[in-house]
Amino acid sequence: MSKVSIVRCPDYSDTRKAIVEAIDLLGGLKDIIHSGDRVLLKPNILAASPPESAATTHPFVVASMCELVIQAGGKPIVGDGAGISRPGATAKALKASGIEEAAIRAGAQVVNFETAGFTLVDIPDHLQFRKLYIANPVLEADIVISLPKLKTHELTYYTGAVKNFFGVLPLKCRKEIHFLGKRDLFGEAVADIYSIVRPSFALMDGVIGMEGNGPSHGNPINSGVILASEDCVSLDIVASELIGFDPLKIPTTAGVLKKDFANQCPVIVGTPLKEAKMKFKKSGGGVTTVPPFLTRSFGKYFTIYPRINRKKCTRCGACHLNCSPHAVERLEDGEFRINEGKCILCYCCREHCPNNAVDIKKSLLATLLTEKENLIRRT
Ligand code: SF4
Ligand code: SF4
Repeated sequence: MSKVSIVRCPDYSDTRKAIVEAIDLLGGLKDIIHSGDRVLLKPNILAASPPESAATTHPFVVASMCELVIQAGGKPIVGDGAGISRPGATAKALKASGIEEAAIRAGAQVVNFETAGFTLVDIPDHLQFRKLYIANPVLEADIVISLPKLKTHELTYYTGAVKNFFGVLPLKCRKEIHFLGKRDLFGEAVADIYSIVRPSFALMDGVIGMEGNGPSHGNPINSGVILASEDCVSLDIVASELIGFDPLKIPTTAGVLKKDFANQCPVIVGTPLKEAKMKFKKSGGGVTTVPPFLTRSFGKYFTIYPRINRKKCTRCGACHLNCSPHAVERLEDGEFRINEGKCILCYCCREHCPNNAVDIKKSLLATLLTEKENLIRRT
C-alpha cells in the first residue's frame, strides 16, 4: 500500500522543515538513496518564469532536496527540458526560475536535457508509442526523483509527479504526442514515458500552486502544502483530490493505472486530506475543442529546424558525432547536411558546434508565432 504524506507549509521560509517532515513521515530517504548514487532531481522548469509566477518548482524546494540527497550520501543532479516551441528555452528557464543558481549553491550538478543527448528506448507494453527518445541524464541516473509543482493544466486538468516527466523528451516527440489531439491518448503517451523513467520518489511543491489557466498562464494560489510519496501515481491521486479534482479523470493518472502502476487507494499520513482540501479554479483550456486534424494541419506548418551554415562550418564533425538519431549526414564532398526527416529537434548540434555554424530555420508560421510571443513578453 503506497503512502502519501501531506505537511502544511504556509510559505517558503519554512520549506526545508516541511520537506524533512514530509519525508520522515514516510520513513526517510535511507532505503531509497545509497552512498554514491547519482540522483536525478527533476523539477518542473516549464518556462523562463520567475518563482513568484508559480509556473516552476520553487528554487527553495529544489535546493532543500539537493541538500537532503547529499545528506543521504547521494550525488544530486538537477535537470529538465523546458517548453516545446523553440531551442534554447531550457537555458533561459533554468536561469529565470532561479533553479540553476539554487541547485549549484546547494552542491548539485545542473544538466540541460535539451542539449544532453537522447537515446531511443523501447517502451514495454506500450499504449501509444513503441519507442521514444529519452534524455540521457534520466537513463544514466541510479535514482530518479520527481519534484513537481501543484498546478492545473489545460490539457490534463491537473499536472503533477507523473506528467512532470514529459520534459524528458526532445521537442519533436513532444510535438507528436500533442498531435494525438485527445486527452486520454495524451495520458497514455505520458504513461509510456513513465514506464521507462520509473521514479523512486516524488516531492511536490504545493506551497504556492497555480489555478486557472495552468500550466503557465494561471494564477498563483496560496495552497500551503508539501506532499511526498515513494509512488508518483499515488501522490497525483491525493494531490488532485486535494485541489478538488476527480483523480481518476486525470488523463495521465488514468493512463498509468491502465499500465497497472500503483493502486487507486493510497494511505495518507500527516495532515488529514479533509483538513488540507481546497478548490482550485479549473483551466478555461478548450484544447480539445480544436479537432485533431486541424491541430495536425497547422502543426505541419510550425517547424523550427536546425540548418548548417556552410560559410561558418569548418567540417569538424562535432554535430555529426553528437546527433543521437544520426540526422547530421556527412556528404561525399565532406560537407554536413541535416536530414529533417530524422531530426528530433534536440538542438544538440547547436550546443556542440564550436563555430556557431548551426542556424535555426523557421517556417513562416513559426516566425510569426514566436515573434508574437516575444512581443507579448516585452509588453
Ligand atoms: S540534427 Fe541537431 S537538432 Fe536534429 S536531432 Fe541531430 S543534433 Fe538534434
Ligand atoms: S559542429 Fe559546426 S563546424 Fe563542426 S561540422 Fe558541425 S556545423 Fe560544422
